[in-house]
Amino acid sequence: MTTPTNQSVLRSKAYFAGEWRTTAQTFEVFHPGNGQSIGSVADCTADDARKAIDAAEIALKSWRKVNPNERGKILRKWNDLMFAHQEELARLMTLEMGKPITETRGEVAYAASFIEWCAEEAGRISGERISMRFNHKRGFTSMEPVGIVYAVTPWNFPAGMITRKVAPALAAGCVIIVKPAELSPMTALFLAELWLQAGGPADTFQVLPTNDAAGLTAPFMEDERVRKLTFTGSTAVGRLLYQQAAKTIKRVSLELGGHAPFLIFDDADPAKAAQEVIGSKFRNTGQTCICTNRVYVQRGIAEEFTRILTEKTAALKVGDPLADDTNIGPVVEQAGLDKIKAQVDDALSKGATATVGGKVKEGLYFEPTILTNVAPDSLILKQETFGPVAPVVIFDTEEEALRLANDSEFGLAAYAYTNDLSRAWRVAEALEYGIVGINDGGPTAVAPHVPFGGMKNSGVGREGGHWGLEEYLETKFIGMALNLEG
Ligand code: NAD
Repeated sequence: MTTPTNQSVLRSKAYFAGEWRTTAQTFEVFHPGNGQSIGSVADCTADDARKAIDAAEIALKSWRKVNPNERGKILRKWNDLMFAHQEELARLMTLEMGKPITETRGEVAYAASFIEWCAEEAGRISGERISMRFNHKRGFTSMEPVGIVYAVTPWNFPAGMITRKVAPALAAGCVIIVKPAELSPMTALFLAELWLQAGGPADTFQVLPTNDAAGLTAPFMEDERVRKLTFTGSTAVGRLLYQQAAKTIKRVSLELGGHAPFLIFDDADPAKAAQEVIGSKFRNTGQTCICTNRVYVQRGIAEEFTRILTEKTAALKVGDPLADDTNIGPVVEQAGLDKIKAQVDDALSKGATATVGGKVKEGLYFEPTILTNVAPDSLILKQETFGPVAPVVIFDTEEEALRLANDSEFGLAAYAYTNDLSRAWRVAEALEYGIVGINDGGPTAVAPHVPFGGMKNSGVGREGGHWGLEEYLETKFIGMALNLEG
């Protein structure tokens, strides 16, 4: 397999303090499809972070005063530029982190949808008139930008996880500094370039790639001027940054790990349910936070459902992520592959059967896998897998299904398939998850206006819609006493 590295899509310089900058050190980015380097990027330091904060402070002074409607117009141009460069962005993401190209094209549209929604909403940011308990008093709320925002993002949606933060921050009048994942930093740099092309003022959106995430992050956490941390990534790192942010009492949004259960009841159509599981489980080769991680099927249709799921899984085309007909690409890195293999080996050693797949294929490729007879204490039923493997567990009653589904430290997304309307509501209300899909394995697909986020160890706050915008706004109360005598 070759890596057709189209130089024009690659990016290398960091953007901060008003300039595109090279740094003394650089680090390489590898294509997971074949392990070859596609290029190197600036490796920013704590000193660079301090310069970015100083520049952000200056940029904030004017950006917060730009009429929100004007801010919306620039965002709209940014959205249009995303589509003008859709193919290049898609190609770059596939090169950086191995997501199949048909999906990265979709990710550009997903990422842009947040920009478009925020472009429309910016001019609607306002406040309320509040009636007071004294006749001579007046009360108002004013929604004001939180200030300088520090964002840390993961590799699995190199564009979407950035625009979901940057678009509402900029619409609200905040300025934002992004530390992209070291595995996919070039897409973030491309996005910043398009923002500047759209007319975004200098230093409103800065991007500092680094190979030393903790070192670059430290100055942001200590600096009183940085008023918000927004993080998407693993629960372990989220917990660490939550503690660090406490020192300067920053506003915090955390979008963390998941372990989504998918419940399939006897009354469901097994073929339709299997199709939804395929979509939810295998997109991005199983590497999304809302990917189905556990399948629970009621005994009456378990055999038929598992047979269909196995057939559909066997039909998935594994291959070059740059090819248009590929369904399953490589996983992002060796550590990810090792984790998947360890979970599958653990389940098999405890008596599970792989009805399809079960092994490393080659390089960073893992065979799409369905496991049955999975022992309750198997790692795969507890830990996030982030790979193309679905364990199928049989249940008898609705109560049992809900108990199993809710027995998790995570609470991000959950799914259920049923034709019984009352059951659908009962289950939706009982699932302890921030996102519930009923007969829908992709409830948040291209939905920038819905709340996305988790309960329990899956996070704090929501992205998307007015919920996501409010994360970047302070509510100020303005009270006034009048002289009513004239
Ligand atoms: P990760 O936690 O390893 O890394 C995320 C980011 O944190 C990266 O930019 C990384 O460089 C940075 N980071 C790591 N250690 C740090 C430190 N000590 N200080 C500062 N920054 C640090 O996660 P990942 O492997 O990039 O992403 C996968 C995880 O993200 C999964 O758990 C997935 O469920 C989660 N995720 C959640 C959502 C959501 O919306 N809830 C969306 C996508 C991914």
